[in-house]
Amino acid sequence: MMALQGVRNFTRRDQVFNFMIDSDQLVPDTSKGMILYVEDLSVSFDGFKAINDLNLYIREGELRCIIGPNGAGKTTLMDIITGKTRPDHGSVYFGQDIDLLQYSEPEIARIGIGRKFQKPTVFEQHSVFENLELAMAANKRVWPTLTAKITPEQVDRIDEILLQAGLMEMKFADASLLSHGQKQWLEIAMLVMQQPRLLLVDEPVAGMTHQEMDKTAELLQSLAGEHSVVVVEHDMDFVRSIASEVTVLHQGSVLAEGTMDEVQANPEVVSVYLGE
Ligand code: ADP
Ligand code: MG
Repeated sequence: MMALQGVRNFTRRDQVFNFMIDSDQLVPDTSKGMILYVEDLSVSFDGFKAINDLNLYIREGELRCIIGPNGAGKTTLMDIITGKTRPDHGSVYFGQDIDLLQYSEPEIARIGIGRKFQKPTVFEQHSVFENLELAMAANKRVWPTLTAKITPEQVDRIDEILLQAGLMEMKFADASLLSHGQKQWLEIAMLVMQQPRLLLVDEPVAGMTHQEMDKTAELLQSLAGEHSVVVVEHDMDFVRSIASEVTVLHQGSVLAEGTMDEVQANPEVVSVYLGE
């Protein structure tokens, strides 16, 4: 009796440890078609509201672009979703059932949210193939049996992602030899090796050529469907080329949502961008 009562009083986090269920095994309930629910979210830094009563819903498999002027709170939003920053109030749910605010940054990564930062961080002294191998080994949820020797199935998986990311001809080249764009694709590919359900990508095309931007748009589009993808981006032409639903952030809140044409025709959005 005592023990039962104790169990009922445990928070979800306690349960994870008590029942030895690893965050690796948590599967979000997406039966309503939603992968991410962000509600009434706020966070202040020294009295400045970087996120201010923000609400955001991401459908499973969609490719969403988040745009907004510098300082709008785009990166802070990603920091909160991934457990790097704790909000002052509000909720963040992965599917209907997983309260992300109860988990640490590494746990959230294992639950299935992959994040790509602005600066690529590949292992320069290793080949492209080895980088993907290392990324694969990092996730025990997906590859529990990875031992010293990689299986043919795992090699196939790496080849598949190399093709998708346009890196096949660089397979055995050191990552240090890749162009800036290729490094960005490799890092996205490394994230994908861990099979995240949700991918967060912060300003992927900064510093890219137009041709590289087109290939990046293609890659992100090809990842949507199987994954849900949220892209934070400054470059309007790029966002337009992706042609997905767009959320405009301004002063820590959602200012507008819709297609690129819809949000660009929105007078409030126009004034925010012209006022920059
Ligand atoms: P964006 O990515 O849209 O350009 P950010 O989320 O980086 O905007 O920043 C939103 C605001 O919050 C900015 O004014 C920024 O200076 C501030 N900010 C972000 N992170 C911190 C922090 N850790 N400490 C203090 N201020 C921060
Ligand atoms: Mg930012």
